[in-house]
Amino acid sequence: MGKQPFNNLIDMGKYDSILTAIRRIQKQEKGFLPLHAPVFIGNEKKYLNECIDSTFVSSVGKFVNEFEDKIAKYTAVKKAVACVNGTAALHLALLLAGVNKEDEVVTQALSFVATANAISYCGAKAVFLDVDNESLGLCPIALRKWLNTNAIIKDNNSYNRKSGRKISACVPMHSFGHPCKIDEIITICEEYNIPVIEDAAESLGSFYKGKHTGSYGKIGVLSFNGNKTITCGGGGMLLFNDENLAKRAKHLSTQAKTNHPWEFIHDEIGFNYRMPNINAALGLAQIENIDYYLKSKRKTAKAYQKLFANTKIKFVQEPQFSKSNYWLNSILFEDKNQRDGFLAEANKSGVMCRPAWNLITTLPMFMNCESDTLKNAKNIADTLVNIPSNVVVNKKQS
Ligand SMILES: *Cc1c(COP(=O)(O)O)cnc(C)c1O
Repeated sequence: MGKQPFNNLIDMGKYDSILTAIRRIQKQEKGFLPLHAPVFIGNEKKYLNECIDSTFVSSVGKFVNEFEDKIAKYTAVKKAVACVNGTAALHLALLLAGVNKEDEVVTQALSFVATANAISYCGAKAVFLDVDNESLGLCPIALRKWLNTNAIIKDNNSYNRKSGRKISACVPMHSFGHPCKIDEIITICEEYNIPVIEDAAESLGSFYKGKHTGSYGKIGVLSFNGNKTITCGGGGMLLFNDENLAKRAKHLSTQAKTNHPWEFIHDEIGFNYRMPNINAALGLAQIENIDYYLKSKRKTAKAYQKLFANTKIKFVQEPQFSKSNYWLNSILFEDKNQRDGFLAEANKSGVMCRPAWNLITTLPMFMNCESDTLKNAKNIADTLVNIPSNVVVNKKQS
């Protein structure tokens, strides 16, 4: 089925029919259509009331443990440790992986700034590599190429032969919820003895080769910010298959306070990174509805896929071997001008659309960091648009 009229309109920069179709798919014909708003259709108010009535709204309480157990079960990891937000969880994960001051950490240039900020919190330097065009996540070919050229193994650790710095972690990110080629990345990093920390902030509900994203690496990190697939208001989670490491995480996230009925004994410098009980109460209600959310998001993605089939606009589909949560649906334009034209038109008409992040290497704090050509990442940053990806709630459901 050719879509010549559609393509002619795209050529003329006329996007009304696309925007109308987006509204129809998201079941919101008029008014402001957000990119990704949370929906509360379950036990949210019940658990929040219960939490308030218990007075345990802060750093201790049953909801935190219950939420951790639910997430651990859902992602099939041994242990999950809840944190105040995804950024704090990433910081802790890197510290637990052994990232030190003046080390180097390899990551992707196409990511949210928090990925790189967490590396900087450790005093380490980020190295930014390209992404692959299928998954939009860290490209294993680029990773191998950079390590082959730059890494040298000494005493079981990898060092950058030019800078002399230890390469102490690799942080791939599952972009917009699409699983990256995590198994290949881990195989490469194992050859170089580099631990992998998965930034799975966007990919709760996304599976690669049948396993949940964030469960492949040494540690995985989730986020429950307001715009993510499920929300705690703010929150994050560390995923572990090593229970001792999980214990360390819990200790470090609670000011490194040792267990004592009344005394304040802190045995190292810790952090106030533990998730409050009231946030966990919200999160627990949200995770109970994850199957509904994912089903609705998949339905939206399929409708978008059909809408853009045989047009000049390319819809980003879930990669091979993957089941994506379709957190944020993405489309790619032929060039930046067309893309920018669409963004202006969409946002003017109240259909919230956003470009991909500016590459982290373009931000002043990270401009001088090492990187490769970033060929794919640059093109994606110029041509991608995230389109509304809200869970559609049946009137009956709410
Ligand atoms: C949302 C996000 C984070 C940070 O999570 P917060 O909970 O907002 O701190 C980290 N990395 C990526 C890729 C994200 O999208």
